[in-house]
Amino acid sequence: MSGSSIFDQLRADRSTLKEVVEDGFPRPEHTRVIAVANQKGGVGKTSTVVNVAAALAEGGLHVLVVDADSQGNASTALGVEHDEEQASIYEVLVEGARVADVAVQTRFAETLWCVPSTIDVAAVEIELINASQRESRMRLALEEYLRDREEGGLPRLDYILIDCPPSLGIMTINAFVAAGEVLIPMQAEYYALEGLALLTRSVDRIAQIHNPDLTVSMIALTMFDKRTTLAKEVEAEVRTYFPAATLTTRIPRSVRVAEAPSFGSPVVFWDPRSTGAVAYKKLAREIATRGTRAAERHDDSTEA
Ligand code: ATP
Ligand code: MG
Repeated sequence: MSGSSIFDQLRADRSTLKEVVEDGFPRPEHTRVIAVANQKGGVGKTSTVVNVAAALAEGGLHVLVVDADSQGNASTALGVEHDEEQASIYEVLVEGARVADVAVQTRFAETLWCVPSTIDVAAVEIELINASQRESRMRLALEEYLRDREEGGLPRLDYILIDCPPSLGIMTINAFVAAGEVLIPMQAEYYALEGLALLTRSVDRIAQIHNPDLTVSMIALTMFDKRTTLAKEVEAEVRTYFPAATLTTRIPRSVRVAEAPSFGSPVVFWDPRSTGAVAYKKLAREIATRGTRAAERHDDSTEA
């Protein structure tokens, strides 16, 4: 990167931060439940979940992260204990525990909560094979949690972000049934579009059977390297095929994003002025404002 472009980047980051602080985040009309999914591994699902959640919570919104991956990476990145003793999404889905008894407040914000995952969660795929309501257990548990909060006089949740594992098994299906929308983080790589086609077909199938309102509402380009021709070509293609869903904000590759989890923190809190943190704040704002606008459009069309 040339000297002038580093200064350009710093200037751009500073003005983005100012905008985010000044504008804040609008509260959605209803709790938005977003499944963050991509069956491809290592594309930035967990980084996107924890940093978008962190940015929204920092903006004063009430956010619950559901760590639905037995790797427990979202729990780690949010500084939440997740050894075998810890009650997790396993107890919720398999043993019928209440989310209210399992959710843990993070140390970063009073409004940022996490349902942790432990290694036990790997067994959910097997335990639920012949279980009743096996696809809807997460949905029922989260609906119960929203009612519990209301009855307990707790503030309404604004966002529930579900960090899915890199597969399309029963856990991801549970997330799709529980969610109102799907956010797909993707890397601008050669095979990315094929993976995207498979994923959108799976979402459509779940929508047909279990959840008619489910849509892929957002696609986020992660670990983006704007210097490569391939990244630019893949981006152009994604925007052509999914013009409405593809978010404007791209998350650049940034060492700070990768380092933050080892400090048990999202980069948004660990190094808030780093380029990766600023990009995630901007992405969170785009997600929040776009949701509100989508709701307004919906209202307009029902009135017409
Ligand atoms: P999995 O499929 O295993 O759950 P994932 O899709 O959740 O992976 P992450 O864990 O978020 O992906 O990211 C994969 C790796 O890339 C991690 O080591 C993470 O720290 C790193 N990473 C994520 N985003 C960035 C970024 N913007 N810049 C640099 N490294 C990143
Ligand atoms: Mg992950």
